[in-house]
Amino acid sequence: MESLRITLEQSEIPTHWYNVVADLPHPPPPPLGPDGKPVAAEQMGLIFPTAILEQEMSAERWIPIPDAVREVYRLWRPSPLIRARRLEELLGTPARIYYKYEGVSPAGSHKPNTAVPQAFYNRQAGIRRITTETGAGQWGCSMAFAGQMFGLDVRVYMVKISYQQKPFRRSMMQTWGAEVFASPSPMTQTGRDLLAKDPANQGSLGIAISEAVEEAASRPDTSYALGSVLNHVALHQTIIGQEAKAQFAKVGDWPDVVFAPCGGGSSFAGAAFPFLADNAAGGRQGRPTRLVAVEPTSCPTLTKGTYAYDFGDASGFTPLMKMYTLGHDFMPPGIHAGGLRYHGDSPLVSQLYHDGLIEAVAVSQLATFEAGVTFARAEGVIPAPESNHAIRAAIDEALRCKTNGEARTILVNLTGHGHFDMAAYDRYFAGELEDFEYPVEAIRDSLKRLPKVG
Ligand SMILES: *Cc1c(COP(=O)(O)O)cnc(C)c1O
Repeated sequence: MESLRITLEQSEIPTHWYNVVADLPHPPPPPLGPDGKPVAAEQMGLIFPTAILEQEMSAERWIPIPDAVREVYRLWRPSPLIRARRLEELLGTPARIYYKYEGVSPAGSHKPNTAVPQAFYNRQAGIRRITTETGAGQWGCSMAFAGQMFGLDVRVYMVKISYQQKPFRRSMMQTWGAEVFASPSPMTQTGRDLLAKDPANQGSLGIAISEAVEEAASRPDTSYALGSVLNHVALHQTIIGQEAKAQFAKVGDWPDVVFAPCGGGSSFAGAAFPFLADNAAGGRQGRPTRLVAVEPTSCPTLTKGTYAYDFGDASGFTPLMKMYTLGHDFMPPGIHAGGLRYHGDSPLVSQLYHDGLIEAVAVSQLATFEAGVTFARAEGVIPAPESNHAIRAAIDEALRCKTNGEARTILVNLTGHGHFDMAAYDRYFAGELEDFEYPVEAIRDSLKRLPKVG
């Protein structure tokens, strides 16, 4: 019988992460400080341990995964690659659809792939505490879990509106021993100033980042951790694509196209980057694997943004990074429930897109939930709303294959399960979600406030 679930032995967990910087056509533009000069390592050293900074700036192709990290990965890795046979039958497509299922991690998404090494390197550097921010709670949960694995205290600044509306992700973080504060909080100067002005401030990711960074910078025993965007995060996520390659090799198949959701870009990077090395050599099947980042039409960073230096956060607190951006104070419309709300994108993903080595597509909200429900009914797994973006694009591709009679192989990065996102599904079922066309005015407006560089 043909196997639906392609597994690897625990001994086959990759021993190295793949660093795409080694294979880029030109070196990545450096992050810049407020003076327009490259940020000094000492400055970043205030909030990140040396091992993480080295990875952030490394151009080495292969970076060894510490044994202690592989040991924790073994709790859920290698993650399964699953052939979505029932979905193929339902669509009547000649395409073969596979999904790499990252929802099997303790926190339910791909984010622990980087939270675990970040906790390890901090612990190794003698750090006792980690501060971080979280919006919907996926990253906070992953960091809380990883901190627990290495005996680190974790403090999470959670955007106040989510803190109130997503109580279960907060309970998960607390179960893993983290302290969770509704942001803006009275714990930091940033928070106190904002609360003095407006005690009802509902918070934002930018404010939460500012609070977490302020606390980390003010204490030598405390570091800050970020769950996407940065080079070291993309690096850690390459475990996904490397495992997928080994799994495809096992069944003698190979993807013609890879779809991954794209918010800050880490899960896309993780699934796609390992295939770029093969693409550079012409591809395994005599043609390159197409690598497609899928984003929402209401926050269309790659497809409608500008490639420019911009701040990583809304308050202009972080260094400037060269990336596709909608402007650092761009906010997607309130009706948008599908996640992937970040205004910018990973500088590495941005550079590859700018160079034409990867593709991007934007999909609209209702279509993503429709795809998620179709997928759940065919395959059983209820995907996270973010993952639904990749599933939408994969279904569209499978339907094109049906029209053209092409037996293509499709890989979907199914980044997480949706068990804690059922309120968003509820809104979809109740007809409360709308499609929101790309907000031309809002983007034009926020792009006017791009920082001037050079
Ligand atoms: C955070 C998250 C994403 C988006 O973040 P990236 O850094 O772009 O990967 C996608 N899927 C799930 C399930 C997430 O939790």
